[in-house]
Amino acid sequence: MTSTRDEVSVPAASQPGQQDTFDSLDPRSGQAIASYPRHSPEQVEAVVERARRAARWWVDLGFDGRASKLGAWRRLLDSRRDELAAVVSRETGKPMDDARIEGILALDHLHWAAKNAKRVLGPRNAAAGLLMINHKATVEYPPVGVVGVLGPWNYPVFTPMGSIAYALAAGNTVVFKPSELTPGVGTWLADTFAEAVGEDAVFQVVTGEGETGGALCRAGVDKVAFTGSTATAKKVMATCAESLTPVLVECGGKDALLVDADADLDDAAAAVVWGSMSNAGQTCVGVERVYVVDAVAEELLDKVASRAAQVRPGGEPDAQYGPITMPSQIDVISGQIDDALDRGGRAVVGGRGSVRAPYVDPVVLADVPEDSSAVTDETFGPTVVVNRVRDLDEAVERANASRYGLGAAVFAKARGHEVARRLRCGMVSVNGVIAFAGIPSLPFGGVGDSGFGRIHGVDGLREFTRPLAISERRFRSVNVMTFDRPGWVVKVLGKLVSVIYGQR
Ligand code: NAD
Repeated sequence: MTSTRDEVSVPAASQPGQQDTFDSLDPRSGQAIASYPRHSPEQVEAVVERARRAARWWVDLGFDGRASKLGAWRRLLDSRRDELAAVVSRETGKPMDDARIEGILALDHLHWAAKNAKRVLGPRNAAAGLLMINHKATVEYPPVGVVGVLGPWNYPVFTPMGSIAYALAAGNTVVFKPSELTPGVGTWLADTFAEAVGEDAVFQVVTGEGETGGALCRAGVDKVAFTGSTATAKKVMATCAESLTPVLVECGGKDALLVDADADLDDAAAAVVWGSMSNAGQTCVGVERVYVVDAVAEELLDKVASRAAQVRPGGEPDAQYGPITMPSQIDVISGQIDDALDRGGRAVVGGRGSVRAPYVDPVVLADVPEDSSAVTDETFGPTVVVNRVRDLDEAVERANASRYGLGAAVFAKARGHEVARRLRCGMVSVNGVIAFAGIPSLPFGGVGDSGFGRIHGVDGLREFTRPLAISERRFRSVNVMTFDRPGWVVKVLGKLVSVIYGQR
């Protein structure tokens, strides 16, 4: 299929003066990088219409044909990984290696989704059961159609690819609205897809702020995959409710890391510091709370403090982490540090003076009241609260007492797995941190204010499909589902059911 871009005249990026535009900014300097169109509802509708027309071609390629096209895109992405990392680093301010890791993880997911879609979603036989023994039962998972993806800025490649790659592999076409902070990353992804696949309506990008996102929800897409804040998720759901458009919701978190007395404390301390401070703490599954058992609390705090004190943010490509990407988050971070300290918490590393916009130095807070906003609300900054608990059971209780439930980590030798199973969240790393995100076969998502639905893995592929059940009569037998049914049939059936199900 050839390009159909000319049919609907969708404005390309970086054509200032032609229409309403907005700028993407370098968060380190606040300087404009490039201008992007602020797509109107009419333009978004036109893009979705193109996606719908392209859907037939994409579906007809079949699993193998799509896997081959997605493979071509993966190889192109691989050959231009550094270029992608530079685009990410410019718009988010994150160090180059962090941006590179994002690209690498996204490639792994793209590979897994394309390779496994046929196995997971292809037709399979189901057991017809005794009562319908004369029928053959099959189930398959056709794509929903056109998927609208709304993405955040903190991992502008890895996070939306968790929806984009899986939705495409399942046979959907995709219209992606990247965050207004990272439109260049989204545009770059769509451009490379078109280059590799030779078709630019299967995966398209629209740019703009919340209004454009709302327009995408209203543009007739068959499903919306949203990743962002809980507050925005509620608005997205309300918009999608107007047309009963299904929504996948991946929101924020307040992830806890639990440490038992038998844990390797060096490993745990390294995980606390990296888990809470990498990417300037702007990680949905970042460590925000630590619950450590009393017996090892001081020792862990010492180790965390000495590591955290050596970590430094900066704007250089090889800094350990970069600036706070979204300027308004600075006030949230300051407010939480103030609240923790005003209410009796201790600053073990850094404190109120650590905030020097756009950077925030590492902050380790201890013994913070559990109802402080530093413990209850998502911080999205390089700060962490370390609170002591009597034992691991109390740690579980406190970890679960959050309205969020995204990820968690447990450091323990004897009870790691047992405790992981008791945590109210979607993903847990035992003796590791955020490890689940790098395992494409594991589903990713949360509960409560962290959202619902799953990306990644088998569940992530199925999320973008509609299960289709087919029963097919193989031979004639006594038919209950007809007005011609003889009177004795139900009696015999009742006796049969009692024999089968009523005795045991
Ligand atoms: P956000 O909620 O501000 O925006 C997310 C996306 O929604 C953006 O593209 C935005 O333009 C769009 N949007 C805003 N208003 C809209 C509206 N009314 N209708 C439709 N779309 C609208 O989130 P953000 O600041 O970009 O991202 C940070 C948040 O994302 C954090 O809470 C973080 O924890 C969360 N996050 C979650 C995951 C996850 O997988 N669970 C991953 C990364 C980030």
